[in-house]
Amino acid sequence: MKNRIIEQLGIALDSDNSRFPGLARRGLAEVGQGAALSLHSPIDGGRLGTVNQVSTGQVSSVIEAANNAFRELRNIPAPRRGELVRQLGNAFRQKKQQLGELISLECGKILQESLGEVQEVIDICDFAVGLSRQLHGLTIASERPEHRMMEQWHPLGPVAVISAFNFPMAVWSWNTMISIVCGNPLVWKPSEKAPLCALACQKIISDTLAEFEEFPEAISQVVIGDGEVGQQLAASPDIPLVSATGSVPMGRKVATTVAARLGRSLLELGGNNAMIVASSADIELALRAIVFSAVGTCGQRCTSLRRLIVHESIIDNLLPRLADSYRSLPIGNPFDSITLVGPLIDQQAYRQMQQSIGLAREQGGTLVCGGNRVEKAELSGGWYVEPAIVSIDHNAPIVQQETFAPILYVMRYREIEQAIAIQNGVPQGLSSAIFTTNLRESELFLSSVGSDCGLANVNIGTSGAEIGGAFGGEKATGGGRESGSDAWKNYMRRATNTINYGHQIPLAQGINFG
Ligand code: NAD
Repeated sequence: MKNRIIEQLGIALDSDNSRFPGLARRGLAEVGQGAALSLHSPIDGGRLGTVNQVSTGQVSSVIEAANNAFRELRNIPAPRRGELVRQLGNAFRQKKQQLGELISLECGKILQESLGEVQEVIDICDFAVGLSRQLHGLTIASERPEHRMMEQWHPLGPVAVISAFNFPMAVWSWNTMISIVCGNPLVWKPSEKAPLCALACQKIISDTLAEFEEFPEAISQVVIGDGEVGQQLAASPDIPLVSATGSVPMGRKVATTVAARLGRSLLELGGNNAMIVASSADIELALRAIVFSAVGTCGQRCTSLRRLIVHESIIDNLLPRLADSYRSLPIGNPFDSITLVGPLIDQQAYRQMQQSIGLAREQGGTLVCGGNRVEKAELSGGWYVEPAIVSIDHNAPIVQQETFAPILYVMRYREIEQAIAIQNGVPQGLSSAIFTTNLRESELFLSSVGSDCGLANVNIGTSGAEIGGAFGGEKATGGGRESGSDAWKNYMRRATNTINYGHQIPLAQGINFG
């Protein structure tokens, strides 16, 4: 099956399907000159092939090519750039099934979620096409007579995208489709755990560009490599914007490197997302939302539910029912249609999960259910786990950190203000939710003294955002906003223009200069 999926997407270059390029541009694929990287599927540990990473010298030539491409791309009208994105959206529609299968194969997501991720790519293409005719600036009243002020939004320059393994296509597409309509070429360094998804997306761009002769060749380039390649991109003064998605420690390094050269970074980092379940909540709705948010993608979403803050009057009813749901979860091969929980990405993720459960117990937590490796012959080679629930005090240090695995910490509260304080009392600030039917509680939660996160939901889980809103989080999550709303402004250069159409030269603030 793996060969069929890879071949259908046209990313296999050699007859034995064992080697892929490390660097891909329009219409050509160059073999990376760096170290070889062996790829394995998290489903069964089976070998997918070898990818050649890029060398330092190759990254430099990619950056130069992106800058040359920028000089051409910025002159192509934005609606024409939108037309390219429209055709990209059509190409993704046509290949939705195969791309979804590739995400499942390479990242272990269940197929339904993988298809949802490709749909997200298609949706952002549609959004970006509309945006290509709406890159509006303001006209501003001037304080001087016979003067006019206005704002213009111009293309910014090459954008580097550094992406995480768990959303191998969606996060890239938020950056790429918006960047293209804004007039910026892309250099994409995907996660070294998901390079095939990147090569498949790049192939679609290459094929689509064949119909767009006036577009520069290097509008989109992929470089396969590790954090060092990411650092080289972050350090380059020829890349005005570095958009990086991943863990908080990675974001700190990228932010420091980019800030040292006074560049712009857009950071989408780890979350430690909480849901408050109030005494008035619709428990049936809440249970469904908790399970999907906490175990979807095997707890490997940035927006995964990690902390459940339940009112003391309902916790003894809710917790056993939640544990029952957990015990009946179908865990298995992500291609199997009944599976709801696929594998962890690798053994390291499994070890981190075990370590966090151990620490939680040392810190007074009680393991309510789950946490074991699923030992079935047909799942050997993959790291399949039972999602875990740990009952714990909110002061335990372990609840301050994100463990990228399905562990749900459950804690109790008495007053709504206390629940909000517990929710906000962590370094991260990505996603949050409240389940309540009490208007005062929900409005308080959404108010300026409520949730301090970038995403705050009422009667909806923490994971599963729509592309139309700006996505991102506060505090250690990095403060970036991508995808919808006015996130496009991050990808453009704002110019304030003042025009004097009179015969005098009055100064601002009424200054008289002789
Ligand atoms: P990671 O931090 O290990 O790697 C992310 C990317 O950063 C990879 O491409 C990696 O090669 C690169 N990288 C690593 N060190 C670097 C360095 N020093 N300089 C430049 N680049 C470097 O993360 P991961 O394990 O792939 O993904 C999981 C993490 O990503 C979680 O913390 C999750 O919450 C976060 N995430 C956040 C969002 C969001 O939108 N906020 C979305 C997806 C994932």
